[in-house]
Amino acid sequence: VSQTLTDMIDASVATYGRSVALEFFGAETSYRTLGDQIARAAEGLRRMGVKKGDRVALVLPNCPQHVAAFYAILRLGAIVVEHNPLYTARELRHQFEDHRARFAIVWDKVYDTVAGFPADLELQRIVSVDITEALPLGKRLALKLPIPKARRLRAQLTETPQARRPYPWSKLVGHSRISRRAPRPGLDDTALLQYTSGTTGSPKGAILTHRNLRANAMQGEAWVPGLKAGEETFYGVLPLFHAYGMTLCLTFAVSIGARLVLFPKFDVGLVTDAARRTPPTFLPAVPPIYDQLARASERGTIDLSTVRFAISGAMSLPVATVDRWEEATGGLLVEGYGMTETSPVALGNPIGPSRRPGTVGVPFPSTEIRVVDPADPSVERPAGEAGELLLRGPQVFQGYWGRPGDTAATLLAGGWLRTGDIVTVSDDGFVSIVDRLKELIITGGFNVSPTEVEETLQSHPDVADAAVVGLVHAGGGEQVTAAVVPREGATFDAEALRDYCRLHLAAYKVPRRIIEVDDLPRSLIGKVLRREVRDRLVEKG
Ligand code: ATP
Ligand code: MG
Repeated sequence: VSQTLTDMIDASVATYGRSVALEFFGAETSYRTLGDQIARAAEGLRRMGVKKGDRVALVLPNCPQHVAAFYAILRLGAIVVEHNPLYTARELRHQFEDHRARFAIVWDKVYDTVAGFPADLELQRIVSVDITEALPLGKRLALKLPIPKARRLRAQLTETPQARRPYPWSKLVGHSRISRRAPRPGLDDTALLQYTSGTTGSPKGAILTHRNLRANAMQGEAWVPGLKAGEETFYGVLPLFHAYGMTLCLTFAVSIGARLVLFPKFDVGLVTDAARRTPPTFLPAVPPIYDQLARASERGTIDLSTVRFAISGAMSLPVATVDRWEEATGGLLVEGYGMTETSPVALGNPIGPSRRPGTVGVPFPSTEIRVVDPADPSVERPAGEAGELLLRGPQVFQGYWGRPGDTAATLLAGGWLRTGDIVTVSDDGFVSIVDRLKELIITGGFNVSPTEVEETLQSHPDVADAAVVGLVHAGGGEQVTAAVVPREGATFDAEALRDYCRLHLAAYKVPRRIIEVDDLPRSLIGKVLRREVRDRLVEKG
């Protein structure tokens, strides 16, 4: 790694100048224009008082301004802090209290919420972005995003807004370009505070440097065979504020001079419209998105035959989804694995005939793995046995923001990262994720993997979705408990489902109770939040 992300974007601007960098509802931004906006926004931020090492919060959906703001902040050696713009006021405020950024660049729809944060947060300046600014009116109307009710309500309840007036983005990019002589970031400077998804607890801010992020984009390049620099079209359907979309789209795509088509939210209709105009070649996503797109392709409403690279991560990819996608599109769908703490990709399947569905593949270049006893990570597990995955590589983070205890428990001596995931490794080195250590259910001395039980339930024709958790029962220990969403039109029969599980699973894995629910709580990128499922089931009694 020799380039910071700032060097990287400068090189792309110089190399791909006139090619399209960003496309948003048909509006195109060339690399040259993007470079110009970055240089102007950086100057605007510098005049506002942003200095090296300052944290600047971004609360934006996917839009061209998101990309420009990201690189403008980095240009100053300052630190980007990403947020989910659809978080409720309480969730957002919790993160602001954690990182205490003094500057923010936010979607105009959440301006009131952020401006209403208490004065002791010392937010000095809030830039407000109208993401439809550059779009023709008709397209603006088509762009309706869901704003959670809870946030709207909360926005009215928060403290009186300070004397802060929104500073429009258009004014920020109205400045002259930043001087070439202005100080630039170094490789080991922090580039990003990226919050984890909060699946197992409250989200933690992972500290990632320029070296970490540039390394992961380079590892991605080495992973993907036959990439054509300057000719790929990436579809940015994953949120840029999450580690996965950030690296695949914000850094990797622009590092190879791709055209990045941005979607403020995933929607089959929006993707279908865009595909008529600009067919995708690279489509990183998650299993529920691949399922929906494969269905559209089967119906013949979208042509996905141009997609050469479909890469799934963040949650386990069912083999049925792979089959369906590959059948519908004629292309490969491969699975990788990563976490916010690894910038995020650490393992991936070979993109070619040797890929192995059901596994997350092999370590990325320069990435080492070990499988250890979770009770004592210094003890290696015998070959073939399940254990906790440890990782080491240039993409491993520097620690959690303001949480030395969590950092010490996660980053071990020698640079090894505890993933908290239980895995097995095949003789020829393919890794399979069993489950998260924290979510394994311990019942009568046995370990039960909730994923295995969920997959069994999901294979039943009457089941649309299922989540499995351990509920503590009176006698101590945990009981395997399932929440099931019945398929439309099917009748829910807990006993029949238990009989079905008995056919496929050892007795101790069969859920003691199966409870009908209307839906499952999911994170914004679609991960089932088992922690919340557990809370809901406890409430139901
Ligand atoms: P938190 O750390 O706040 O509890 P989180 O771990 O879900 O939340 P992320 O960093 O977004 O936050 O997710 C990383 C985790 O996602 C991994 O530790 C792993 O459990 C899971 N994961 C990632 N890729 C896969 C995959 N291909 N299959 C199964 N699980 C995966
Ligand atoms: Mg995690």
